Amino acid sequence: MLDDVDRFVRTRVAPAASAIDAEAGFFPELLADAAALGLQGIVHDDNGGLDVTRMDLAREVTERISAHSPAVALGIAGARLSAYLLAKYAPSHLRQRWVASTLAARTYGSFAITEPEAGTDIRALSTVAVPDGDDYVLTGHKCWVGFAPVAHVAIVLAKVGSPERDAPMVALVVDMESPGAAGRPGPELSGFRGMPNGELHFDGVRVPRGDRLDVEGFAGMMDGLNMARIDAAAYACGLLRGALLASLTRAHARHAFGRPIGDLQIIQRKIGRMAADYRAAHELTRRAAESFAHGDGGDQDIVSMAKMFASDAARRHTDEAMQIHGALGVVTAEDVNRMHRDAKVTQIFDGTSEIHETMLGRRALRMLARDEPLTAFLGSDTVEEISA
Ligand SMILES: Cc1cc2nc3c(=O)[nH]c(=O)nc-3n(C[C@H](O)[C@H](O)[C@H](O)COP(=O)(O)OP(=O)(O)OC[C@H]3O[C@@H](n4cnc5c(N)ncnc54)[C@H](O)[C@@H]3O)c2cc1C
Repeated sequence: MLDDVDRFVRTRVAPAASAIDAEAGFFPELLADAAALGLQGIVHDDNGGLDVTRMDLAREVTERISAHSPAVALGIAGARLSAYLLAKYAPSHLRQRWVASTLAARTYGSFAITEPEAGTDIRALSTVAVPDGDDYVLTGHKCWVGFAPVAHVAIVLAKVGSPERDAPMVALVVDMESPGAAGRPGPELSGFRGMPNGELHFDGVRVPRGDRLDVEGFAGMMDGLNMARIDAAAYACGLLRGALLASLTRAHARHAFGRPIGDLQIIQRKIGRMAADYRAAHELTRRAAESFAHGDGGDQDIVSMAKMFASDAARRHTDEAMQIHGALGVVTAEDVNRMHRDAKVTQIFDGTSEIHETMLGRRALRMLARDEPLTAFLGSDTVEEISA
């Protein structure tokens, strides 16, 4: 499959990447081509069932595409995410209706948590599903949601009955053709341009009670979010790889004071650190994907470390790549400029870097207080010494 992916990247993604970014143009044909190669369906078997043992392959595909266009990689990974949640938790009538069509890129599915007053603080969300006979009546407003303007179906996190902070939550599967449901474009973004993003509005939408994920709503969405975070780390790895290759090429070709700028120690140091951080981010993300492949939703600590480390490194080193390009670095049509804008997004979506560092630190301290092994934080060799 990776040979097919490399050919797809070389012949279809790389030539289109600049125009997708410049025009913020959606790319349904590329998603259909990716689907024909089976890229959205990597963690599914031939019958649409799940096979998450292939999550590390999905990660590698995301990284390779992201070295040229993280927007295209997100279009593919976003479809995989919706299909994953539907295949794992939705009743059979919804699986039949949406999984195959989503994997084939005939329909698009949104994963909708964020609201204008509820981003990092998910429990602040105020979209409410009120039970009424055989239906829920859904009212609320989601924002910054991938595929929102073109979505056929949306998995929507809502509170049941009331917007109180601790109200129980449900993840409803909403047909976006339902009366009262609407998807709209949001403001123009600087990164991941071309990937549709925007708002979902629900104005008294009647959703049959059975049209939900069969799992506590928050927990189900967090399972999906772990997959999304591994992909976010992989977009960042792709950006690091792209920045490294672009920097090497420029350092070799650009001459100053009669010699390539790559002869300067200051440029060599930037590239050395870029290469080391790329390999470290890649290994951490691989570990995160391998943990997800066990089928229990993944090791949350490794997933957080990978997402935070890779995205912060991508932002830092795409900045260095711009610097190595001099004035060309600030030309919006240049690849390194686009990479820097895309890298910023990876620090924000799927949990900001700040919330990941906070969660990691808090968990490590709590585990120490409870005398639990700190394996995820320190590696197995040091556990005995620290917990004794
Ligand atoms: C391109 C893009 C695609 C997206 N796709 C989706 C999608 O498909 N579905 C979806 O539901 N959402 C999506 N989002 C939304 C994204 O998940 C949120 O933007 C993100 O969770 C941050 O929320 P916020 O923007 O409201 O920032 P805020 O929560 O307002 O945070 C603002 C700042 O405060 C900091 N902060 C807040 N609370 C804490 C805390 N407790 N500790 C430390 N720092 C804190 C944050 O780190 C940040 O720096 C997308 C966003 C973007 C940009």
